[in-house]
Amino acid sequence: MPEPVQYITLTVPDGEIIGYAWADATQIGLVDRPASSSSAYKAGIAWFSRMQDARQRGLTPAGVIALFSHEPGAGPVTEAPDLETIKELARVVTPADDQRLLDQLVPRGHPAWRELAEAFDALTDADREVEWSGGRPQPDGSHHVPYPVYSKPLERAVRALTEVGAVTPEHRWMDNRLPDVPADGGLMDPADAVRAATAVVRGERFSEGRIARAAKDGLLDAVAASLRAWSATPAAAPAPSTASTAVPVTTGPAPSAASAPTLCRYCGGSPAVDVAFRAHLGLLVFLRFRRMDGPVCRMCGLGLHRGFTTYTLCWGWWSPLSLVLFGPLTLVRNVLAARKVERLADPGPGIAGRRFDPGLPLHRRPLAYVALVPVAWVLCLIAAVVCGGG
Ligand SMILES: [Zn+2]
Repeated sequence: MPEPVQYITLTVPDGEIIGYAWADATQIGLVDRPASSSSAYKAGIAWFSRMQDARQRGLTPAGVIALFSHEPGAGPVTEAPDLETIKELARVVTPADDQRLLDQLVPRGHPAWRELAEAFDALTDADREVEWSGGRPQPDGSHHVPYPVYSKPLERAVRALTEVGAVTPEHRWMDNRLPDVPADGGLMDPADAVRAATAVVRGERFSEGRIARAAKDGLLDAVAASLRAWSATPAAAPAPSTASTAVPVTTGPAPSAASAPTLCRYCGGSPAVDVAFRAHLGLLVFLRFRRMDGPVCRMCGLGLHRGFTTYTLCWGWWSPLSLVLFGPLTLVRNVLAARKVERLADPGPGIAGRRFDPGLPLHRRPLAYVALVPVAWVLCLIAAVVCGGG
C-alpha cells in the first residue's frame, strides 16, 4: 500500500533542481535527479547530511522537512501520493540538462573535430570486431581474466571522443540508462551522444568490453555520427548561462538579468516556457475565443492546458466554422504548447500568486468525451457518402 509522502524541492541558486527531500511517517530521504549537474548533485549531498543531523537531534521526519522548507533554495512542503511519484519527477530531463552536456564539447571548428572525423572514417569492420585474449589456463596453472584487445585505429577513435569533450564527469553514467542506437537509422540526439560516449568510455574502466560491445552493435558509430553532425551545424545563440559571463558582474546578491531564469507569470516558479493556451466555444452563430499567455511553469501550463482543452472538446464544435476550423485548430495549438510545457522540469518554489492545479488528465474528464459526438457524426456522414457513392 503506497503511503503519501511530504517533500520539498531543492534548487541551486541558478534555478537547477537538485532533487526532492521527502519524509514519511518514519524516515527522511533524498531523491536526486540523475540528469543533474555534478555541482547540483554535490549540493544535494550537503543538504541531506544536514537533514540527517537534524533528524538525529530528535526532530520528526515531517519536522525536518518543515524546518528545511524555510531555507533559501527549498520549496514549500508539498504532498505526493507516494514515493514513486517523486521518483518520476526526478527522472525529468530538461533542455538545460541537455545543453549542459553540449557545453562540455570543444567549440565547433576546433581541430579535435577533424581528428574525430578522420579517426572514425579510418575504422574498418575488423576494428569493430574486437578479439578477446586471456582466459586460458597458464603454464603455472593460474587463469587470466579474459580481456578485449583493441586495435590501434579503434583506440584512436575512442581517444578522439575524449578529445572533443564527449566524455565528461557532468554525465553521471552510473545513475542513467545507456542511450539506445536509433532503431530507424536516424541521428542520435547530440546530448544523448555525449551520454553514451561517457558511459561507454568511463564504463570500460569498471567493466572491460563495453567499448567492444559499442563498436560491434553500432553505438559507437551512432555517437560519432551525431557529434559530427552537431559540430557541422552553425552554433545557436549562446545559452543564457554563457551569455551572462559577458555581462559586467554587479556586486551584491541580486542575480544579473541575463542569468535570471524565465519565471511563470502566474506563480513565479521556474523553469517556465513562453507559450499560450486557448479555448474556443462555437454555438450556431455565437463564437467565443479565449487565450491565456505565458510564460508558464509545468504545473500552471498543464492546468491551463487541461482546463482549456476540456472546455474546447466540449463546446468547440457546435457551429459550422467551429467544427471544421476553430475547434481542431484550438486543440492542435494547445497540444503543441502542452508538449513544450511537459518537457519542463517541475517548477521550483513559486514566489508570486497561486499555482494552477493540473488536476485530472484529459481522459478522466467526462466533458472531454462530448467531442465524440461530432466525431461520430462526421464518421457517419463519411460512411453515408461512401456507401451512397458505391
Ligand atoms: Zn506556475
